[in-house]
Order: sequence, then C-alpha cells, then structure tokens
Amino acid sequence: MRWPFFVLFFLILSCNKNNENCLFRPKPIVSINNKDISDTISLVFIGDVMGHRPVLNSFYNKEQKTYNFDYLFEEISPLIKKSDYAIANLELTLAGRPFTGYPRFSAPIELAKSCKNAGIQILTTANNHSCDRGKKGILKTINKLDKIGVRHFGTYLDKEARKKSNLVILKKKTIKIGLLNYTYGTNGLPIPEGVCVNLIDTTQMKLDIEKSKTKGLDKLVVLLHWGNEYQLKPSKKQRDLGDFLYKHGVDVIIGSHPHVIQPMEFKKNKDGLEKLTVFSLGNFISNQRKPNTDGGALVKLRFVKKNNLTKLLPPGYFLTWVNKFVEKGRNKYQIIPCLSQKPNTSIKKLNYFISSTRKRLAKNNIEVNEILD
Ligand SMILES: [Zn+2]
Repeated sequence: MRWPFFVLFFLILSCNKNNENCLFRPKPIVSINNKDISDTISLVFIGDVMGHRPVLNSFYNKEQKTYNFDYLFEEISPLIKKSDYAIANLELTLAGRPFTGYPRFSAPIELAKSCKNAGIQILTTANNHSCDRGKKGILKTINKLDKIGVRHFGTYLDKEARKKSNLVILKKKTIKIGLLNYTYGTNGLPIPEGVCVNLIDTTQMKLDIEKSKTKGLDKLVVLLHWGNEYQLKPSKKQRDLGDFLYKHGVDVIIGSHPHVIQPMEFKKNKDGLEKLTVFSLGNFISNQRKPNTDGGALVKLRFVKKNNLTKLLPPGYFLTWVNKFVEKGRNKYQIIPCLSQKPNTSIKKLNYFISSTRKRLAKNNIEVNEILD
C-alpha cells in the first residue's frame, strides 16, 4: 500500500509546481445548464464593460454612420444565455455625443443594446465612471437603459427612485435573490445635486441590508466596485468590508474595478451558511492589453431551494478573453470563451492569459473551480 501513496504524493507535488499541466485539473461542475429544475435559479456575473475609444471606433460603420456591437458578443452570448439571469457592470455613461473613451466615458446606446441581445438583462451603474458626464450623463444613462428595457441599479434619478429601485429582486418560481450595488467613489468628481450614486458607506449599506430583509429574500448579493487597480490580491480594506457585510447577513459579494481577476472564496461561516466572495471579475470588454487585463471571469451561481431552505451550490467560473486582431486594416474585437480558441487569435497571448490565470486561481481560490464543460 505504501507505493501508490508515494506516487500520489509525487503527483500532488509536481502539480503545485506547474499547474497548467496538472493532472488534477479543476473539477467540471456537472449539469450546470439544467435551468429548468424547479426551485433552482442560476445567475452569471460578468465584469467591467468598458468603452475605450478604439473599441467604439471598430464597431462604427462609416457608410451607414451607425454603431452595432453584436459581433463583439457573438461567441460568448450562448454561454451567457444558459443562465436565468446575467448581470454585468456598465463602466461608462450613455450620455450621447461626442462619444468618448478614457478618462470620461460616453458610449453609444448600441453597446447596451448589444449587451441585451447577448443575454445581459441587468447592468450595475455605480462605479468610478458614473459621474463622467455630470448630471446629464447619469440621467441619460438611466433613461436610455429604461427605454431599451435593460434593468439597472446603483445610480438613480432622485431619492424617490432610489427608494423604489435600490434593491433589485431576481425571481424564479419560489426563489427570490436580492441585489445591491455600491462604488468606492467617482474619480473625485462630485455627485451632482438631486441624483443618487450609491457609495460604499457602511451606515447606508447596513440600512439597505436591513430593509432588504423585510422583502422575503432567499439570498442577498452585493456588487461592489472596489479594490486597487491591477492588484492581483485583495486589499485589507476589501477584506474588512467583506467581513462587515457578512456580519450583517449578506450571502454573496461580487467585486469589480481592479481590471484583473482577483481570488474567489467559497466558505461556510460558523452557522454553516455558505458565503461567496469574488474579489474582482476583471475586464469583460476593454482595450487593455497588459498581462492579466485582457480578459476576465464569468462567475456562475446556482441556488437551490429544498424544504424551504435555499442553498448556494459550489460556484464555478469561466474565463473569457478579448480577442483583438486586425482585419482588412481595421481593429476587430471579440470576447471569446477561453475554452474555444478561434481563428485570428493571438494564441501566445491567449495561452499566457489562460495559464497564468489558472495557476493563480488554483493557488488562491477557495472551493471555486473552473467550469470546463
Ligand atoms: Zn472602475
């Protein structure tokens, strides 16, 4: 019996050294696409939708003078549509022309329309770019999203609207999942008078959480725009805020903003309740090409209700990558699932993203594995 034990030990050792060749690959989650089981709800969380100028330009049709971003989502939308609900962070305003990229974003409404066509029904709007175009930018973003039928939360026309729509409730059969959204700040731009942008403010958050508990929710998810840009690990500030929210009854924290993927931790608290923190999902759409910024994670959650008890099943993630290439002298962009490599792909860059991210997450994640089917 001693020999096989030794072999196993050796395999584990070699695995830690070189994870991409690891024999113990992340476990695939079975039957993730089965969304029709009664009392099951599936959610997919998507990172930052950025509107850098080169990305906007590449989807402009000069002859027709129109924008259409559907091609950007073509490869990824089947995966998004496998969940009951898809939620992404809209890190730009829909403030109209002139369309601008960094540092003050305003993108054409067609970008949000294509998000919707791709299956993203809900967008968060509280982030450091909420105030990029002042009061008009906030109002126009909200009104345009309403017009095209995309649910949104995080910024509000006024206090009354905040009261009504601060908590988003996602329902399926008997399950009700609540969502709240906050940002650490607005890049030093003042929040215009009259409108509301949800800032990370523990007093207000505590009130919102308490109010949400009166709505008969099964679970509460808080989406936070937080953390330090380009840092691969969460800060102490993120961890402290996470502890605060869990102490007050939050079940899941989904983070965005650092432009890179940060670890995901699925743990049970002392009462045996499942708690999930995804510190940062990374970039979903962007023109950033530095290592670790050219892709992101989609995190898939499934909640199951049995005998009036709702549980979060072990969550998993998909890796996505922004495929940027030149065709007929023009830049083209497409978000691709990392498991299916496409033509025109810079294989070297994609492989670096996949192998470095897998290595890092295999080391730092707690009970959150890549979904491989
Ligand atoms: Zn941000």
